[in-house]
Amino acid sequence: MIITEAVPDITSRSLFLSWGSAPPDTLMFRVYRLKRGAGADEVAGLTEKAVLIGETTDTFFSDIFYFDELDEEGDLRYRIDALSQITEARPLDTAVISPLDNYTPELAPFINSAEMAANIVFRNRKWSDTAYVLRPRTTGKHCGCYSPDRGRGKDPDCEKCYGTGFAGGFYTPIPVRYSEIRREKLRREIDEQSPQARDIPLLAVPSTPQIRETDFLATNVYGILSVAKADTTIVRGVRMPTTLLTAVKLNKNSVINRFPITAVSPVVTGITTGQNTLTVTGRNLVNVSGTIQLYLTTLDSLSEYATFGPADLISTSADRLVFRGTFKGCTSPSVKYMLFINNIPVEGIIHS
Ligand SMILES: [Zn+2]
Repeated sequence: MIITEAVPDITSRSLFLSWGSAPPDTLMFRVYRLKRGAGADEVAGLTEKAVLIGETTDTFFSDIFYFDELDEEGDLRYRIDALSQITEARPLDTAVISPLDNYTPELAPFINSAEMAANIVFRNRKWSDTAYVLRPRTTGKHCGCYSPDRGRGKDPDCEKCYGTGFAGGFYTPIPVRYSEIRREKLRREIDEQSPQARDIPLLAVPSTPQIRETDFLATNVYGILSVAKADTTIVRGVRMPTTLLTAVKLNKNSVINRFPITAVSPVVTGITTGQNTLTVTGRNLVNVSGTIQLYLTTLDSLSEYATFGPADLISTSADRLVFRGTFKGCTSPSVKYMLFINNIPVEGIIHS
């Protein structure tokens, strides 16, 4: 197994991890933080204790407490275990990474300002749009059409696994913002020979999470695109903030075109406040890079106003975001919210 990304993000105070090349028969993964030191009976500094911080069937994970833990630890290491459904006791494979190994202090100010500039583009709704990264599954629950010999599905048109052989077909779709650079028309003579080939969009996307050449993008503008080429500039081992994608439209007969994009869009269904916490419930609240912002106002009196950011996060999951803090306006009949997840805007009004 290889850890392909371990990217600390100071703005969201989180760390994004992703990995690949998991053994076949992997069902899910466990993510551990490795901390120096151990029990009182052992010599401190010589051993590491593994603290389980998450379990996922996806091949990515965000540690939203990375910087808090880093303050205590100085250098944090992570371990990913691949587990099969049969031999749960022992991992099939394991990979370890120290995110700070890739950190280059002299590059940091340059990257931070470039990232900020890129984010201005990705946050602007006139300049950018939302896409969902569909990464074909190579691990997880087998579909009925799975072929052990081939390690994927027997039926390329299977609507349950989209030909991958794994239930659902894709890992949890990651929402990203993209900006179109320009559209390139194919030359006419080529167009005539292959009626499927139409515009080839050239798209700029944030370089984290990394989008690969085997991924698909679900967009409202183009429908489903296949990523043909992904270019990221790397300076001394550090990826620059944006990636340039060359994407092509899928053949219209491809089963992947039937992937329901509306089923993966973030939806907020409720906002409640407790004594010290504020909970947002919904669907597809997938927070990969930790960049979360929540703005709340009341409708009747605009005097009640509150904002919550990554530093206020207590926990995240696809159906629940819990923040530290409260909002007095929650007792009023309607609350207006604007939530940004990975720069994707979700807004509306909750009536109590
Ligand atoms: Zn199938």
